Amino acid sequence: MDNCLFCKIAAKQIPSAAVYEDEDLLAFKDINPAAPVHILIIPKKHIATLSDAGAQDEALLGKMLALAPKIAREQGCDLKKDADGGLSGGYKTLINTGPDGGQEVYHLHIHVIGGPKPWRGQR
Ligand code: 5GP
Ligand code: ZN
Repeated sequence: MDNCLFCKIAAKQIPSAAVYEDEDLLAFKDINPAAPVHILIIPKKHIATLSDAGAQDEALLGKMLALAPKIAREQGCDLKKDADGGLSGGYKTLINTGPDGGQEVYHLHIHVIGGPKPWRGQR
């Protein structure tokens, strides 16, 4: 898509701090992080919003979501379980859709937000 910021990032026309890439997906650091870890997972294919994803995109959506815990692990904010079953760590996964959903960039993305300190902010 012409004039789409994240298509340009996917095409390397605009630089980003990438943390993961394969033939379908790119994950990169958010330019204005809301927490110590703030990564955006995008499909390389242009899909404007979650509501624009069709039946043909179900595998791609699954792939995007399945990447989130891998990114969290690599970024050091994955869910941790101690020997007693206690939980620590963890992260937030977020998709904003449309004006009322607070979407600013109209190319589908999953936010992965977390970090060494618990983060309970709103977005
Ligand atoms: P949305 O509100 O659409 O869900 O989130 C868009 C996100 O994209 C925001 O968190 C914003 O900081 C991030 N963002 C906007 N422009 C750029 C950019 O040029 N590069 C990067 N890495 N992130 C961006
Ligand atoms: Zn796009």
